[in-house]
Amino acid sequence: MKDTADFAKHVHFQPSIGEDEINAVREVLKEGRLTLISSEKISEFETRFAKYIGVKHAIAVNSGTAALHVALASLEIGAGDEVIVPPFTFVATATAVLHQNAIPIFVDIDPETYCIDPNAIEKAITPNTKAIIPVHLFGHPADMESILKIGRENNIPIIEDACQAHGAKYKNKKVGSIGDLGCFSFFESKNMMTGEGGIITTNDDELAEKCRLIRHHGEPYWYQYVRLGYNYRMTAIQAAIGLIQLKKLDNMNKRRIENAKYYNENFSGLPGLELPKSRKDVKHVYHLYAPLIRPEELGINREKFLGKINEKEVITKLIYPRPLYKSPLFQDLMGYGPKKCPFTCPYYKKKVSYKIHLPIVEDICNRVIGLPTIPSLSTEQLDQIVSTIKNAIGELKK
Ligand SMILES: *Cc1c(COP(=O)(O)O)cnc(C)c1O
Repeated sequence: MKDTADFAKHVHFQPSIGEDEINAVREVLKEGRLTLISSEKISEFETRFAKYIGVKHAIAVNSGTAALHVALASLEIGAGDEVIVPPFTFVATATAVLHQNAIPIFVDIDPETYCIDPNAIEKAITPNTKAIIPVHLFGHPADMESILKIGRENNIPIIEDACQAHGAKYKNKKVGSIGDLGCFSFFESKNMMTGEGGIITTNDDELAEKCRLIRHHGEPYWYQYVRLGYNYRMTAIQAAIGLIQLKKLDNMNKRRIENAKYYNENFSGLPGLELPKSRKDVKHVYHLYAPLIRPEELGINREKFLGKINEKEVITKLIYPRPLYKSPLFQDLMGYGPKKCPFTCPYYKKKVSYKIHLPIVEDICNRVIGLPTIPSLSTEQLDQIVSTIKNAIGELKK
């Protein structure tokens, strides 16, 4: 990762950290019990998070990526299997599938919500399909009713990637409680955070037990190893931060929603800009505010537009500039070393190729921009961002 300093310039994407998080960390350090093995903090956080989401079980891990990997492993997905994923998401949605030696199958997205398109899922199902991972992108829930229906009809489990959607609701149910398993990230930029961290949610007792085993070396009792596992444990320091952040989550989301509303009001009617949409039956928690530009109307491409508005201060983020399948990882089938596993896995009878063209995601990737919604944004900062964008568009339309 060579552009860490660049990311640090994104002041508008910083987490909200108060005295209570600092005090909680201080207390854990004073106690000197820092791990799942020695501290009750992690299970306390799991109990609270499960209750918040409205599920029986939550299993804390050390990243959202680990959560996805553990969820796939708990479903016994592996060599020869296909998992349907969207191409417009963070890379981990797809690489977690590779970590389990299975093949990610990318399908197109819905142009309004940017989430995976249920019709596209239906067309991609084969006898090898062993899971579907809808992503609740930027905080907007995927079309879970249609996706669950496809899952049930074909006996395929659903893993919700809710890494950007803590507290979002689909028809009054919190995301992460709808599919067979839900996965959350607590990376520092997410709606709630623990620095790094993640959690898996489920109502299924058996899957929950498997997730607990896989997170901790497949070790149910000291020195008994009953299946392949990992060290994906969350620390007590992270859990202590998570307990505080969880209490603040609804208020932090409320601020994000208000900030998105502010953008909507101020950008409405602006030429060359398409405002993000939200379905009526969902609670969108605006991890990001992601409008589209119309390059032909503005006479400028997205990269140049971003350059223009970030001239004085970095206010926008380039997000997902190309569909995941266009990355060298997929184009050149770069798997586990020169043998290119799992893409060349003999258990997988078909030839893998990502030389595909999905028109909607390719269009959206060329036009989307990400504006910050973080709870700490002041009205002055919001006004600054709004006027920067309005001025840029004003100049271009002259
Ligand atoms: C952040 C994120 C992940 C991965 O979470 P990490 O905690 O960074 O490993 C996975 N999927 C999506 C959609 C994300 O936004």
